[in-house]
Amino acid sequence: TITFDAVTKRFGAHVVLDELSFTVDPGEFVTLIGPSGSGKTTILRLLMTLEKVDGGTISIDGEYLSHMERGGKLVPADEKHLSRVRRRIGMVFQQFNLFPNMSVLRNITEAPTRVLGLSKGEAEARAVDLLDMVGLSDKASAHPTQLSGGQQQRVAIARALAMRPDVLLLDEVTSALDPELVAGVLSVLKEIASTTDITMLCVTHEMQFARDVSDRVMMFDSGRVIEDAVPEKLFTSPEHDRTKEFLSAVL
Ligand code: ATP
Repeated sequence: TITFDAVTKRFGAHVVLDELSFTVDPGEFVTLIGPSGSGKTTILRLLMTLEKVDGGTISIDGEYLSHMERGGKLVPADEKHLSRVRRRIGMVFQQFNLFPNMSVLRNITEAPTRVLGLSKGEAEARAVDLLDMVGLSDKASAHPTQLSGGQQQRVAIARALAMRPDVLLLDEVTSALDPELVAGVLSVLKEIASTTDITMLCVTHEMQFARDVSDRVMMFDSGRVIEDAVPEKLFTSPEHDRTKEFLSAVL
């Protein structure tokens, strides 16, 4: 379970998250929607420990991101604790960020061998399975520049899964793609959502996709969750005027 408890995040005087509290259950697929600047990406970056909270706590299965237990007390997390937490979380970004000078296979085996200590053979077997899952079995020896954006993003997804994360964070993963490449990436995500027990947190503008795959959708505005409901409810009969306004602008 991911728990945000009264999380506040500021950039200078600007309060981006304002005592935000929510939980996400194991295996849930939760989509975050809301206007630009409402704090969605900041939530993913906090989970990835790329940013620090200014108040409140974030935990995964009772383990705090920013703190650790020492002698029965909570003390600020050290780098070792942070990297252990980070290892449980995979993230895929709008920009695929593949290593350009490595083959597709090496892109996927790099972290499992270096961080998890898998043998080359074990990591490659894992990568081959994942390439099959994302429909790119024939591209193992290709370099990223030889692939379309959609193919590169599917490699980035395989690379994140190679670490066997408990949590997968998806930040507008189709926003940089040509329209005809979007469906292939979304169908891979749908497959992961339905065949694994990975907890998925997704920021997207693909409302049809959000409606199809989410267990729950959270609508953000000004750093707060203003509506939190199953997709059928949120998309067809939203409670909040702000949600109605937002949906009528994007649908
Ligand atoms: P979008 O849909 O445009 O990505 P978002 O809901 O993901 O929006 P965030 O990226 O979380 O919003 O940003 C929330 C606010 O925090 C924005 O006003 C942004 O300008 C500000 N912000 C984010 N990161 C920083 C930073 N490193 N320094 C200063 N301000 C920041």
